[in-house]
Amino acid sequence: MTDLNVRDVIIVGSGPAGLSAAIYATRAGLRPLVISSSAAGGQIATTDLVDNYPGIEDITGAELGQRLWDHAEHLGAEFEFDQVVSIDRREGGSLFEVVCEGGSLRARSVIYAAGASPRKAGFAGENRFGGRGVSYCATCDGMFYRGKEVFVVGGGNTACEEALYLAKVASSVTLVVRKDHLRAMRSLRDAVLSSPMIKVRYLTRIEGVEGESLIERVVLASVDALGVPTREELSFAPGGVGVFVSVGQVPQSAPVCRLAELDDQGYVVTRPDMSVATPGLFCAGDVRATPLRQAITAASDGAIAATSAARYVGVLGD
Ligand SMILES: Cc1cc2nc3c(=O)[nH]c(=O)nc-3n(C[C@H](O)[C@H](O)[C@H](O)COP(=O)(O)OP(=O)(O)OC[C@H]3O[C@@H](n4cnc5c(N)ncnc54)[C@H](O)[C@@H]3O)c2cc1C
Repeated sequence: MTDLNVRDVIIVGSGPAGLSAAIYATRAGLRPLVISSSAAGGQIATTDLVDNYPGIEDITGAELGQRLWDHAEHLGAEFEFDQVVSIDRREGGSLFEVVCEGGSLRARSVIYAAGASPRKAGFAGENRFGGRGVSYCATCDGMFYRGKEVFVVGGGNTACEEALYLAKVASSVTLVVRKDHLRAMRSLRDAVLSSPMIKVRYLTRIEGVEGESLIERVVLASVDALGVPTREELSFAPGGVGVFVSVGQVPQSAPVCRLAELDDQGYVVTRPDMSVATPGLFCAGDVRATPLRQAITAASDGAIAATSAARYVGVLGD
């Protein structure tokens, strides 16, 4: 007898991977439940402009996320806001129990697409001033720094995107780069280096931020042209400065760490069909070990994972 409380597939995450999986799962004849701790789009919703999603020349990240969500919902996917704590095997391995903060659900297959979250830079005061001067998302928090000075920590694509976005609102932007060069793609690098609003400080790191309730001092540690370490303490009116950290991502793989192999950075190792060691579990998007982490690759992974899950539960042939 069919247990109506058991879902054919539960999808964890509402970023491009999870929402694309939801679209493909419904098209394969499944009624997926998407469980997510955020609104539509995941990380992509935090960026201002997406200009590399094929077929859509310019779109805000929030709108792209919402369109993916609406598409999945229109096709019949269901959604629940919750935080998944763990995923376990039950009934001799034939079912999964998805344990959330709000309760548990069971499913025959799971598509895990929980993405990644920002890595901390590790300077003194980073945690203390989180949300009060230290931010991980320029699009979300940039407006609080209109006309103020900001620092962006990092030298990759996302750090350059964040610096360019903040250059439109802040009075000045200092990009703090630990290495002696930017790692970003050429177009971003050129845009940053030609912006009159952005100053790049190479071989520099933020040692700490200090203040009473808001940041009043930023301490920079760098190396001068002769290789001699230098230390600079910059003072600001309380709240007159922001520090945006953009130094990479931490994969959100903890809930599946007992069911799948992780690489040395914690990303899930998948097969080409997005399956892992545990039959019925599929992982897609930024949470998995992959050479490119973008909306399009996450959406592609989601499509493959949903097709594999549909085959696994028997609604699609080989
Ligand atoms: C600032 C910024 C700019 C970017 N710009 C671009 C760009 O221009 N073009 C581009 O293609 N890509 C861009 N990216 C990258 C792109 O956003 C990601 O590659 C993509 O969002 C990954 O999709 P995902 O679905 O795998 O994961 P995510 O987008 O990270 O989504 C993960 C989802 O899982 C949920 N979740 C996590 N843990 C749990 C849990 N335990 N329980 C329940 N839900 C959970 C999250 O809430 C979220 O909904 C950018 C990223 C950032 C941060």
